[in-house]
Amino acid sequence: MNTVIVGTQWGDEGKGKIIDILSRKVDFIVRYQGGSNAGHTVVTNGREYIFHLIPSGILHKSKICCIGNGVVIDPAALIEEIKGLASCGIRVDNRLKISPLAHIIFPYHKVLDKLRESKRAHKIGTTGRGIGPCYVDKINRCGIRVGDLINPRTFREKLKDNLKEKNEIFKKVYHHPGFNFNLIYKEYLHYGEILSRYVYNISALLNRAIVEKKDILFEGAQGTFLDIDFGTYPFVTSSSSTAGGSCIGSGVSPIKINKIIGVAKAYATRVGEGPFPTEFAPAFNKFMREKGSEFGATTGRPRRCGWFDSVMVRESILLNGITELAIMKLDILDGLKIIKICTGYKYKGKVFKELPYELEILAKAKPIYQQVPGWKDKISGIREFKRLPNRAQDYILRLQDILEAKISFISVGSSRDEIISLQVFRKQLD
Ligand code: GDP
Repeated sequence: MNTVIVGTQWGDEGKGKIIDILSRKVDFIVRYQGGSNAGHTVVTNGREYIFHLIPSGILHKSKICCIGNGVVIDPAALIEEIKGLASCGIRVDNRLKISPLAHIIFPYHKVLDKLRESKRAHKIGTTGRGIGPCYVDKINRCGIRVGDLINPRTFREKLKDNLKEKNEIFKKVYHHPGFNFNLIYKEYLHYGEILSRYVYNISALLNRAIVEKKDILFEGAQGTFLDIDFGTYPFVTSSSSTAGGSCIGSGVSPIKINKIIGVAKAYATRVGEGPFPTEFAPAFNKFMREKGSEFGATTGRPRRCGWFDSVMVRESILLNGITELAIMKLDILDGLKIIKICTGYKYKGKVFKELPYELEILAKAKPIYQQVPGWKDKISGIREFKRLPNRAQDYILRLQDILEAKISFISVGSSRDEIISLQVFRKQLD
């Protein structure tokens, strides 16, 4: 069984926890897009692990974790992550596999990322980690890949070629002194030496695994509305974070994917700029941000918070072909008097039941809400749906009705065991 996990909102939905739970049942876990701007948090035995590039499945000792060709890699960040895991007693040797086709982030990508953002009239809220410019080079066919990094001669040629052009641009356009070849070459050659032991033909590995009837979990980073095509462009990430990205970013055919699980928060958050129709007013925003610890796992940036937007999640279900949903952080809604669900937007007298792609409409539209009463009790200790307060059950059932999709998981706390798994998954999880 090959399963893709995708975020249905703007990322940070809590995918890390679902990935962690499902990793137990699979043989391979694959990251297929994005870079170290993503951060999954997994809490296990009271310890918090934050993953940026390595699939969080690495916490399960027998699993093979792959970084696919669709990912862009900051080698220093990756090596840091490997060392961090080693210091917690988690060894990645023979279990971490990196595609030679994945592209490498260089210092010039990071600097360019920040320079471009500083010159933009409308900031897109980049994390400044060089991910966008690295993807630009990939599409521009001048990128340097993991496979190049471990071949000193090819690497020398490609880096020389890149710096020749880039240094001119840095000097003439950005009035930046540019970059020294020798410094980067030496530093990155060293990274290549360290990483070479992990380099592996991922698509061959996964396709072989499929023939052998092994199970694969594809873990998406970010969320549907940060997708380069379907997200709220230009306030998006530079890769395909929708389910289709799993095939492009790993070399596995779409015909081999069996299940797509969408992860949604019980409310909504977004980090950075861009339209957010259901965003709370400032005071309530602050209250919910603190209640839900809504600060970026990678950057610490405060997240904007709002009500659950079913228009967006319905669109996500379509775009990704979601077969089941996981609703996360339901416990964060404990104690609220009322809870709202956005079921449409109103703009210039017109009602939108489907997501409008014009950013202006999305930015100015007024949400249409259904309102349900909240519950008082704390729900983190509950493990069965029917033991949830009636109003919490009603909220979940209402979501299921509006979304016309099956909810298979309800998460009620940050720990691995704070989860209610509904019928469909019961057998697999027990
Ligand atoms: P991801 O990128 O989609 O994996 O999301 P993040 O890791 O950035 O954010 C999820 C955060 O919420 C992490 O700190 C998780 O430990 C936490 N979390 C996940 N599920 C729940 C939940 O049901 N309740 C609470 N309170 N926290 C949760």
